[in-house]
Amino acid sequence: MSLFQPDGQTTHMPRRAANGWRMLCCPMHMAAMMPMGMGAAVAVPPPSEPPPSFVDGTAPEASLWASRGDEHTWDLFQVAAPGRWVVIRGATVWPMTGDQPLPNHDILVQDGVIRAVQPSGAALPDAALVIDGAGKHIIPGLADNHVHPPLMHVSTMFASMFGPQVTGEDLQLPYDLHMFLYLTGGITRIQAMAGSSEDLALRESIRQGRLRGPSMRVASPVIDGYPLVWGAHISYGVGTPEGGRAAARRLKDRGFNFAKPYTRLSLAAYDQLLEECQALGIEVTGHIPAAVPVEHALRKGQRGVAHVFEYFYNDTESERQNLDMMARRARLSAELDVTVQSTLTVSMMFEYDIGHRPDGFQAAGVFDPVLRHLMRPGGPIVQMFSGNPQFVAQGTDCLRHSIHMMKALKAEGVRIVTGTDTGTCNGTGPHTIHDELEWFVKDVGMTPLEALRCATVYSAEHHGESAVSGTLEAGKRSDLVLLEADPSRDIAATRRIKGVMLGNAYIHREAMDRGLERAKAIFAAMPVPAA
Ligand SMILES: [Zn+2]
Repeated sequence: MSLFQPDGQTTHMPRRAANGWRMLCCPMHMAAMMPMGMGAAVAVPPPSEPPPSFVDGTAPEASLWASRGDEHTWDLFQVAAPGRWVVIRGATVWPMTGDQPLPNHDILVQDGVIRAVQPSGAALPDAALVIDGAGKHIIPGLADNHVHPPLMHVSTMFASMFGPQVTGEDLQLPYDLHMFLYLTGGITRIQAMAGSSEDLALRESIRQGRLRGPSMRVASPVIDGYPLVWGAHISYGVGTPEGGRAAARRLKDRGFNFAKPYTRLSLAAYDQLLEECQALGIEVTGHIPAAVPVEHALRKGQRGVAHVFEYFYNDTESERQNLDMMARRARLSAELDVTVQSTLTVSMMFEYDIGHRPDGFQAAGVFDPVLRHLMRPGGPIVQMFSGNPQFVAQGTDCLRHSIHMMKALKAEGVRIVTGTDTGTCNGTGPHTIHDELEWFVKDVGMTPLEALRCATVYSAEHHGESAVSGTLEAGKRSDLVLLEADPSRDIAATRRIKGVMLGNAYIHREAMDRGLERAKAIFAAMPVPAA
């Protein structure tokens, strides 16, 4: 299988292109490609390609799963009627506008918006719904800026692995429950990083209130060169430089929030893509293609980097040790106001896949049986990775190098945002945003509040929503999390969630646990062999 571009763009190859592991960065992606022979299904572009060759699939309005609404979760939220006040009383509030908390304060909410944050004891509005905040710490809702929700288009691909009778429907957690899992982890904002029609439909259902879930941004399908890394269901295949421009126009028409360039895009097509995005006012956040030098990408206008390891994955081991070079890249990122998604979780999981970190994947805590099956020791993903010397070489110490790069980015004041690159969110289980935050503190050297800022304030900036969210102040959306411990003392407190408010709806701990049990029961009934 040739790694070269079909349109003759072979000049920055082949060493960079040969470093294939990073294309397989996240477990759901890895899983997705298993039945597809590593994207070989779309190995060459059609002969007379009208670029790009994206297959749009189901129209958003036709997605049955997204339109099913909230039948599994509607009773788990306590919802305030329009105009009715909600007061969280007597809590320690961390507004995230500075480093100081507001002890013994009330948060007054109406119609999903914070109207006031004031010292306890003042008169409260009549007939308010009161939530006891005594002894609790309140932070803004958290963001996972790099997720891959396993929606129907993904489940359908897995199905054939589990027998001829198994369908995608058999492996699908209802969307409202899936979104509920994010909320139980304190996550009120997500960014789906390989867009599809299903993701667009889900975003629309959340916007319209058919189901409750985190506010959601959706990347374009990955804008890739040939042979595609993934299937056409999540790819814009771009075989010519002009295809880069066409992809930009297409993603804007379809309503994706930003462009996500991908690994095999040629340098010429990349340049055209970025120029067209600039002309159309489209943000570019994604991988740095193998054929594109890091500094070129940044100078060309790529404002978001989808993994911290994008900064070094094409380098040799000795280049990775070149701290001056990494510092230079970090400095340039700061100058150009680049935002970087951390994805330390998947750096670690990649090390697990290659056998470098045998205990890295905590299967027991993972709800989703498909993921457990695929990731089990000796399972298909582990075998494929650990059996490939090149993957092993590239993945060794991926987390350690990522942490070095994080330190360099932090030292230069680059905006880092939390992202896990995982497909499922397991409430407070393993491989979640909470692990990511703990690495920020324990390994990167951030204070707990600096880490929290990456998941709140900076994430809102990254989404262009600073005016309406990311902090706890009057006028901001009431997306917030009640914790039973002080997160400024120990970041692990973000796991100890007592309640989550999403606009005008509140989830008590007890309702969270009921929702988690429902999700577990559906997962347990899926026709997947025990790991
Ligand atoms: Zn990813």
